Formats: sequence, structure tokens, C-alpha cells
Amino acid sequence: MSSANQYTMRNPLTQFPQPEFPGQTQEPPGTVHALEPAADHGEKTYVGFGRLAGRKALVTGADSGIGRATAIAFAREGADVALNYLPEEEADAAEVVQLIEAEGRKAIKLPGDLQDEAFCQRLVADAVQGLGGLDILANIAGKQTAVEDIADITTEQLDATYRTNVYSLFWICKAAIPHLPAGAAIINTGSIQSYQPSPNLLDYASTKAAIVNFTKSLAQQLASKGIRVNAVAPGPVWTPLQPSGGQPPEDIPSFGSETPLKRAGQPVEMAPLYVILASQESSYVTGEVFGATGGLLLS
Ligand code: NAD
Ligand code: MG
Repeated sequence: MSSANQYTMRNPLTQFPQPEFPGQTQEPPGTVHALEPAADHGEKTYVGFGRLAGRKALVTGADSGIGRATAIAFAREGADVALNYLPEEEADAAEVVQLIEAEGRKAIKLPGDLQDEAFCQRLVADAVQGLGGLDILANIAGKQTAVEDIADITTEQLDATYRTNVYSLFWICKAAIPHLPAGAAIINTGSIQSYQPSPNLLDYASTKAAIVNFTKSLAQQLASKGIRVNAVAPGPVWTPLQPSGGQPPEDIPSFGSETPLKRAGQPVEMAPLYVILASQESSYVTGEVFGATGGLLLS
């Protein structure tokens, strides 16, 4: 076990690998094990302090990347976790389950495709049953496919991106809200792309703008129930999403170099934002977007 953890003071410029990264591609949805350099999800470093003791969390996209780091952090902070991911991501997910169980927390595997409304409903029902309730919903799954020209964005891709990133949010929240007690928290996942859309991410960036708007609107709607709704907006983060079609292959070596901190973020650097937005510490925060962008501006 390394002695450094998320509280150890370091220079953020050099805390994690800096570009250039080796060129690499994967087939979507990708795996953390093909990433070079390896990504840090806090497996060896994230230290919890019981900030989510006894809480019951559903995390989508929990096998890899930001969802994996969040699931690990939630468990280290004392929560039981239901994990959603695609069936072909079973190997990555099984490792997260092991890490959660190593904390003495419950881990429930709920693989399936969020593009399917009936599955989203079943997912929530199974999470509620398996955890004995639900009070944290972290919607982290997402689909991103870079295409240079709108003429080449197929209706199939457009539909898949909107179903995964936007429709599933409506379906999962709609199914979950009747189960959520006062004090519960919903955390969605926006992006720097919500504010500064890249020309080659037309469909994806517009879903991320929708997610920020959805977050603010649902927060207004659920405030009277004592349910908070917020979003995390990551900048460039080193996850399988990027080399599996999220970026053109030629952009992978310099990925993250455009940020003021001059490197990609690591999934472990996103997890603390999900933790604080889930925790009662942020009791007066709702309808808010917390950025973790390496200095790119959310405006
Ligand atoms: P990731 O590939 O590790 O995670 C994305 C996950 O989405 C996959 O593991 C998969 O389980 C899930 N997913 C995709 N399609 C699905 C479907 N149809 N059904 C069920 N699950 C599905 O990548 P990540 O970067 O950790 O992505 C997590 C979130 O962070 C996404 O919402 C993404 O848009 C957002 N984000 C990422 C970055 C970045 O630079 N990596 C930046 C901003 C926002
Ligand atoms: Mg994955």
C-alpha cells in the first residue's frame, strides 16, 4: 500500500502522467487494462473517513474510468454499491466488486444496456431490492464517438448517444425518485463539452449540455422533497472512453495537454467531487455543477 493518498500535498502539474501518451486504440466500450499508461482509480490510494457510512448507492459506468473510481471511493467512505456496466465489461467490473467487498461493503452487479428503457426500470428495482433501499444515484455511464463532419454522423450513432447519455437519465431518475428519501442525492455527469463543445463531438457535446440543463431543472423540481441534484463536469480524463473512439487516434498522444495544468486528469481526481455531492456535507448545494477540468473554464 502506497503511503501517499488523496490528501498528500503535491504539485498537480506533475502528480500524474503528462503527455505525450503512446498512440493506442481500443474497440468500444474498452477496458482499463489496455490503457498505457495505466489509469489511477484510487485502488491503492483513496482513503475514506466514513463520509457515506451506511449509504446505498447505484453507480452506472462503474466498471471503468470515472465510475470505477467513484464506486471505489463510495465503498471506502462506507456505502454499499450497486454497479451497472455493459455485459462485455464483466472483467473490469469484477475487480471493482472485489475492491468493494474488501472494504466489508456490499457490491451488487447489475450489468445491462442503458439504451433500453425496460432495463433502466429493472436496474433501479434490482438496486433497491439488493441494497434494501437507495439514497445515492450516480449517473456516470456515457457514450462518446468523435466524428469530424455532421454529414458522417449516422442516425444510429445519434440515437445511441442520446439514448445512453440523456434518455437513460430520464428513465433512471423517473424510476428511482419514488424510492429516494429526503437527504438523498443524485449526481449526473456533464463535461467541459457542456460549455466548450469540440467541433468533432457535435452529438456528444449536445447531450452533455442537455445533462447540465436537466440537472438544474430536476434540482428545482426535487428540492421540496429534500433530494439534491448536482453534476460533475470533468475535463479530459484518462479512461477507456477516449482511445475507444472518443477522440480521433491522432489526438491521443497529446490528450490533456491543452489544459492549464498541461495533462489529462485521472479518474481518482474526479471521485472526491462525487463523494462530496453525495455526502450530507453538501446539504445546501443543489442545481450546481462542480468542474474538475485542469483549469479549462466552465462558461
Ligand atoms: P469509461 O469508458 O470508463 O466509462 C463509460 C462507461 O459507460 C462504460 O464503462 C460503460 O459501462 C458505460 N456505458 C456506455 N454505454 C452504455 C450502455 N449503453 N449501457 C450501459 N452502460 C454504458 O469512460 P469515462 O470517461 O469514465 O466516462 C464516464 C463519464 O464521464 C461519461 O458520462 C463521460 O461522458 C464523462 N466524461 C468523461 C470525460 C473524459 O475525458 N474521460 C470528460 C468529461 C466527461
Ligand atoms: Mg468500461
